[in-house]
Amino acid sequence: MSLRRSIYKSPAQLRAMVEPGLITAAALDAVRDLIAPGVTTAELDAAASAVITGRGAKSNFQMVRGYRHTICASVNEQVVHGIPGDRALQPGDILSIDAGAEYKGWNGDSAFTVVLPDPARPGIVAEREQLSRVTEGSLWAGIAALARARHIGEVGAAIEDHIEAHAPDGGYGILREYVGHGIGRKMHESPSVFNYRVSDPGPEVRPGLVLAIEPMVVIGDQATFVEDDGWTVSTLDGTAGSHWEHSVAVHDDGIWVLTAPDGGAAGLAPFGVTPREIA
Ligand code: MG
Ligand code: MG
Repeated sequence: MSLRRSIYKSPAQLRAMVEPGLITAAALDAVRDLIAPGVTTAELDAAASAVITGRGAKSNFQMVRGYRHTICASVNEQVVHGIPGDRALQPGDILSIDAGAEYKGWNGDSAFTVVLPDPARPGIVAEREQLSRVTEGSLWAGIAALARARHIGEVGAAIEDHIEAHAPDGGYGILREYVGHGIGRKMHESPSVFNYRVSDPGPEVRPGLVLAIEPMVVIGDQATFVEDDGWTVSTLDGTAGSHWEHSVAVHDDGIWVLTAPDGGAAGLAPFGVTPREIA
């Protein structure tokens, strides 16, 4: 079997990816419900873990070598891969949560961002909410593009275009060193899914393709470094970051967002795309 062929799943394999997607979504919902000032990121991690194990699944993040947690919790200038711990959330924090579940050998992977209210700093909160809104919008623009694309490269172009069209003056930075990916038996599979335009059109989009699309966007420059903990990816210039992600299947009748309980209907509606359930 060629490498090119191996990225496409059978209809039965796509059906097997529905449940891990829904478990991932439920874990993230449990985290979202807990987020408040004073709550620690370790408490958020425990909530996600309880949902995933309670539904007979495993945290796929814990299968990443050297990583012991169920979620990544990235606060303020941390963009991705923040480690949960005793850090307590503060008013005005921008927080990105990333998690995934493996169920019966198949994986889900999803992330969202929230901004905690802070009446004392309305300007900072508004700036961060705009960043999160534009990043989420770019995710849906990328998913909508996938519904119509001939090649995967069109996804990254749509993400970049959405960010450029909606960023404030001066623009946002799109991380270059971290990208989306195929997902299936493993959380991270081929191909890479760029969040920006590249010259290579990439593999063909056709039924069986499952992608984790995940724009990572920052208020300032895209340059990042890995903190001394060996994991946390933070901006060099200290500006805030946002990360949104969904796992999305292309099948015979259309696309379905595996990590959204509505299949992505709400997020895709502004783009004129209707998701179709996997038969
Ligand atoms: Mg993820
Ligand atoms: Mg991912």
